[in-house]
Amino acid sequence: MANDLRFQVVGEAFKKKPLDVKAPSERPCEYFGKHVFNREKMYKYLPKDVYDKMVDVIDNGARLDRQVADAVAAGMMAWAKENGVTHYTHWFQPLTEGTAEKHDSFIEHDGKAAIEREQNGACSDSAEREQVRMKFIGGMIEEFSGKLLVQQEPDASSFPSGGIRSTFEARGYSAWDPTSPVFIIDDTLIIPTVFISYSGESLDYKAPLLRALKAVNVAATEVCHYFDPAVKKVTSNLGWEQEYFLVDEGLYAARPDLLLTGRTLMGHDSAKNQQMDDHYFGSIPERVAAFMRDLEIQALMLGIPVKTRHNEVAPNQFEVAPIFEDTNLAVDHNMLLMSLMKRVARKHGFRALLHEKPFAGINGSGKHNNWSLSTDNGVLLHAPGKTAEQNLRFATFIVETLMGVYKHNGLLKASIMSATNAHRLGANEAPPAIISSFLGKQLSELLDHIEKADKENLFSMDSKQGMKLDIPEIPELLIDNTDRNRTSPFAFTGNRFEFRAVGSEANCASAMITLNSAVAEALASFKKRVDERISEYAEKPEYAEGSGHSPKYHAIIDILREDIKVCKPIRFDGNGYSDEWKAEAAKRGLDTETSCPVIFERYLDEDSIRMFESLGVMTRKELEARNEVKWETYTKKIQIEARVLGDLSMNHIIPVATSYQSLLLRNVERMSGVFPKEKASQLNARNLKLIEEIAERTATIETQVEELVEARKVANKIADEHQKAIAYHDTIAPMFDKIRYQIDKLELIVDDGLWPLPKYRELLFIR
Ligand code: ADP
Ligand code: MG
Repeated sequence: MANDLRFQVVGEAFKKKPLDVKAPSERPCEYFGKHVFNREKMYKYLPKDVYDKMVDVIDNGARLDRQVADAVAAGMMAWAKENGVTHYTHWFQPLTEGTAEKHDSFIEHDGKAAIEREQNGACSDSAEREQVRMKFIGGMIEEFSGKLLVQQEPDASSFPSGGIRSTFEARGYSAWDPTSPVFIIDDTLIIPTVFISYSGESLDYKAPLLRALKAVNVAATEVCHYFDPAVKKVTSNLGWEQEYFLVDEGLYAARPDLLLTGRTLMGHDSAKNQQMDDHYFGSIPERVAAFMRDLEIQALMLGIPVKTRHNEVAPNQFEVAPIFEDTNLAVDHNMLLMSLMKRVARKHGFRALLHEKPFAGINGSGKHNNWSLSTDNGVLLHAPGKTAEQNLRFATFIVETLMGVYKHNGLLKASIMSATNAHRLGANEAPPAIISSFLGKQLSELLDHIEKADKENLFSMDSKQGMKLDIPEIPELLIDNTDRNRTSPFAFTGNRFEFRAVGSEANCASAMITLNSAVAEALASFKKRVDERISEYAEKPEYAEGSGHSPKYHAIIDILREDIKVCKPIRFDGNGYSDEWKAEAAKRGLDTETSCPVIFERYLDEDSIRMFESLGVMTRKELEARNEVKWETYTKKIQIEARVLGDLSMNHIIPVATSYQSLLLRNVERMSGVFPKEKASQLNARNLKLIEEIAERTATIETQVEELVEARKVANKIADEHQKAIAYHDTIAPMFDKIRYQIDKLELIVDDGLWPLPKYRELLFIR
């Protein structure tokens, strides 16, 4: 029984040549955003007053009225038609991680349009009405109104809703998010939208994200006013770094586990993998380089400001990163890029693997979320400044970020947790399953100084220079590369924090909803306490005008000093992978839970619910519904993996191992016929050992697969999604590695010519 498929796909993969990617004749800055209805296009295609109104809607959240929507739709339609567009879709981000879209064409029966025109009172008398009818009836016209742009009712009853929409009332609607521009892919106009149930609960990531961004804007702007009353708006910035693997499409197709679960459920280590460190930042393989070039051109045309590309640590692992943007836009762009990557990869004969851990034993993929806040007048609030006041503001935003992260460290972990990311976190690679923050030497010293220095010496008021702060010199550029701690899940990197625990496949919105909410809550609490303290000081004669004291700065410093003490447990600059840290973190009261379904419980802690509700981000009902979805999704993923593993074991691995065993048996028999007994048994010794090993290992696999099936039956009887997910985590997932262990051992002894699945060395080194 020869297995031809594997050798056929390996042979073909070797022969593939890089595709010739034709670069556009224009320069990247000229074709950037070509397929986006951005401000430049709005300016060109919209009447001046409509354009102004749209800018007000985008920048200041002004209400979009129906007339403006109609005018915008008309402008969009004109632009879309010039670009050969025939369809439009409301694009949204359901809780399944990907994006969803349903395309409708612009065409409409003209009769219907004529009737609508009548209803809208467009025809003043019956003669005109008749004329309109004569002119249109029987043909088709193309239509796109403000109504269609602004709201749609996708029949989306099969998207997860955690029971918010019962099936008899399975209606949800999608509503345009005008802050994220409309764009074109192929023949379709794509409209970014939020997805909401009829009773108003969010069914997606975007709606709560927009609310969290609003909350952080409000809270941060108020705190900024202590330092600069002119600040009108604070924006949350996100720059993600997307890691991924590329695998040749033929090899991928020959691996049912990759195809169905996104990861390899078996496969012995390749003799060579990443130990030489020769892939990281190495020269990019040619077929991959062509893929990257193609991806970048298309991404730029879609307005995604991609900037960086390189090889990652593991063989066949790569990264792409854009310049940071407003968080809402950055999230949309990441979702768009992920689907674009899959498409472009196929064109180049690859599959893009976005799973956090496609291969055991080598690096997994993450998506670092570089995050910061900045003001509408151009100040980066997480970057140190020049003056004492600027640095006090800097310290304020650093400390209150840490306060948010400290208070909600368990929830932040829940926000990045998933069945797939669980393979990365805590599995002795990338960030551990404990959220802590690395600040580096300089920033740590600054906070220690503010906390411990004698207050009278720390700062003073000077009639000429205003406030003076006696703190160690802060270099404007804090980025000290040698000081970077790769093991920290939330690291300060000079002018931003880098949330590294986010998974490669995840929608960044999940992490961003929680982070921005947590920081909004911390800033609001800071503001409240500072204001109270200011009022207290204002009553004291020693703080009166001309006293050389400032109630405001005294109050800010007091509260900062309190908070620096409170949030100290979150600060950790050591090795996050060590066992000592796990013990130490537990002592500090940080969340050290590692079970994915248990970690999700943090969303329903009273502290979490209070935070989300008080900021208007999510209600208890929404949070409960979302957790149902999370637990259900977790169970389904493990369930699918269990099935695939069972199938592959029974109909790929065991049959192949058994046929090899038969070959060996035949050989043994024949040897015995040729050689005298003693000699034969000597010569057969090795084969007999192999025959025995195969018999034992296949028997073990069979038993374990049966146990796996039984364990599933037990778990499936549990009605409660939460408890079911816990059962899947505790009783089913741990069996995977045991079965895999046996299979990987068989891979080492079975004739390579018979082995049906492309091996790690082929998946990782052919490109
Ligand atoms: P690394 O050295 O970690 O690879 P890069 O310099 O490549 O980091 O930047 C990673 C991402 O961080 C990019 O998307 C970049 O635009 C973004 N970034 C840089 N500064 C900030 C900031 N202040 N706020 C948010 N993101 C930022
Ligand atoms: Mg980085």
